[in-house]
Formats: sequence, C-alpha cells, structure tokens
Amino acid sequence: MGRGQGGQGRRWMQEPINDRPSPPPSVSPPGSPGTGELEGLRQQADALERELTSLRSRMAELDAQPSGQIAIIDEALCTLCGVCVSVCPTGAITMEDAVRVDPPKCTGCAICVRECPSEAIHLGPVAS
Ligand code: SF4
Ligand code: SF4
Repeated sequence: MGRGQGGQGRRWMQEPINDRPSPPPSVSPPGSPGTGELEGLRQQADALERELTSLRSRMAELDAQPSGQIAIIDEALCTLCGVCVSVCPTGAITMEDAVRVDPPKCTGCAICVRECPSEAIHLGPVAS
C-alpha cells in the first residue's frame, strides 16, 4: 500500500511541472532579425538630423553676414519696375522717384542683381 501511494504521489507532483504553459512569444524578442538593424537606422537618422540642424544654423549665420559689397543701382538702366524692392530680403531697397539702397541694411546677397529684369544692379564695395 505504501509503495502504490508513493508512486501516485510522485506522478501527481510531476504533472503540473510538465503541463505548465510556455510563455507567449513576444512580438519582437530582443536579438530577433531586424531589431538591431532598426535600432541602428534610428540612431543614424538621429545623427543625420542633428547634423542637418547644425548645417542649417551655419548657413543662416553665413547668410546674415555682410559680404563687404552692396547693391548699386544704375539709374540709366532702371525702369522703376519695383522688382528689386519686392525681392530684397532685408528691406534695403526703397523706391520713390528713384531706387535707393540703404547700405547698412544690404548684405550683398545679390538676389536683386539676379532678379532685376533690366540688369540695372551690380554689387560693389561699400563706400567708405
Ligand atoms: S529691379 Fe531693376 S529695373 Fe526694376 S526697379 Fe529695381 S533696379 Fe530698377
Ligand atoms: S544685395 Fe541683397 S540685401 Fe542688398 S539690396 Fe540686393 S537683395 Fe537687398
């Protein structure tokens, strides 16, 4: 009697261990194919974003720096069309009876030179 009960007791104790459900598989287990690559791409994208921000900041600094030259209007060619006034990013050009450039405001960016339909603007040294 003692032997039989002992044998049944051992089987009873083993069953729950053998039938224990295995844990559900995770959606993206660490170390699965693609996980490391995705993380690497995220880090690359972050690094590129930081570099782009830095480049844009430097470009803005250079844009804002005076070039040492300013726009000079050739009144003989100017038709008073007003294009230069509208394209100047710093508001350096005004137009009434003639077109005028305010030297302290002009950065020498040359946008007006490119946009003037009469080729009436060129860059020249700031008058001292
Ligand atoms: S764009 Fe040229 S032609 Fe037109 S107002 Fe300016 S300087 Fe004169
Ligand atoms: S060179 Fe640039 S800043 Fe100077 S007047 Fe022309 S558009 Fe304006």
